[in-house]
Amino acid sequence: MNPKELFAESKTIIPGGVNSPVRAFEPYPFFVKEAKGSHIIDTEGNDYVDHCLAYGPILLGHSDDDVMADVYNQMKMGTAYGAPTENEVKLAKEVIDRVPCAEMVRFVNSGTEATMAAIRLARGFTGRNKIVKFEGSYHGAHDYVLVKSGSGAACLPDSAGIPEDTTKNTLSVPFNDVEALTKLIDEEGENIACIIVEPVMGNIGCVEPNVKYLKFLREITEENDILLIFDEVITGFRVSRGGAQEYYGVKPDLVTFAKVLGGGFPIGAYAGKKEIMSLIAPAGPVYQAGTFSGNPISIQAGLSTLNKLDYEFYGNLARKGDYLRTNISDIVEDLNLDLQVVGLASMFQIYFNPEPVVNYEIAKKSDAKRFLVYFRELLKNGVFIPPSQFECNFISGAHTEEDLDKTAQG
Ligand code: PLP
Repeated sequence: MNPKELFAESKTIIPGGVNSPVRAFEPYPFFVKEAKGSHIIDTEGNDYVDHCLAYGPILLGHSDDDVMADVYNQMKMGTAYGAPTENEVKLAKEVIDRVPCAEMVRFVNSGTEATMAAIRLARGFTGRNKIVKFEGSYHGAHDYVLVKSGSGAACLPDSAGIPEDTTKNTLSVPFNDVEALTKLIDEEGENIACIIVEPVMGNIGCVEPNVKYLKFLREITEENDILLIFDEVITGFRVSRGGAQEYYGVKPDLVTFAKVLGGGFPIGAYAGKKEIMSLIAPAGPVYQAGTFSGNPISIQAGLSTLNKLDYEFYGNLARKGDYLRTNISDIVEDLNLDLQVVGLASMFQIYFNPEPVVNYEIAKKSDAKRFLVYFRELLKNGVFIPPSQFECNFISGAHTEEDLDKTAQG
């Protein structure tokens, strides 16, 4: 039985990672038997160079020996306590040391929880209700951020089970568009609690902010007493040691993390200015908590992961990213293909659209059918990338030059 047949027959599960509207039209192509470093082996023994990397978290490569050993040792000491640990404090200090805006940190279990809490905090801090997001962005599976043009991974109509009150309070504008945001803030500014942004849009492929756009966001939010939230669930600890805010030199009020931070284990975090973060209960009035928040397994995985992510690691990763993008671009030029390869650091995307992609409207023009052909061809050639034109592709520290050559040739 292959995965497609199983999912068609199954009445017992709604598969976790494959349960998005996108994956519904191209089911996961294999069952994984094992994963090590940059490779996945399926149940039929096929070996793939993996650029999905569990949609991002596996920055060190699958089953990193050091992380696994530390986590195993921690498991022998218990898996959950409901009490703080020294490691949690150590991990918080490590985050604060790296991330410019982080003065206080709270750990949760996913990116969704982190963005939900950051938005709740922003509403509590400002006493305002509305939030602004960008078209095509994805900030997790909670009501506020699923409506008004979700990304390719979550294009829900406003009516899909989301209360009307919530849809009314979510506003959205195109990314990289100064005029649209200025107009919105002129009209609605005094009702807006926060702007939440993926500093590099990783859920419409990979779209960098225009030069100065993030600085503009910082200025317009400060002028209008609106909080700026960077959703660094994808970019955090990936594009540089201190994430996108360090990379672009723009400091938000709050930031959210997940993916890379857990080294393959479920974790999330939000952090930011003390005066905002200290509103969280029990010290303050804004409630956020969770049974497994700060659990010792994920915290240990995070600590062991960050211990390995030093300046040298990021230097090597950036070189690998440049190597792959240049390699593919050269082949594209030689073959005179009308597609473009974009990305930064360990993120890359191929758009089947000759126009420079600056926001969702243009990302949508990338030819989905050609993307699927390319995805299937790569798979036949032993390269696995996410099966959607909107999902960013990743490189891990474990990828070798040989892996990257195989990807480019594929
Ligand atoms: N924010 C961004 C930018 C994401 O890409 C994602 C997930 O892909 C999330 C938030 C939600 O994170 P999680 O899936 O861990 O809940």
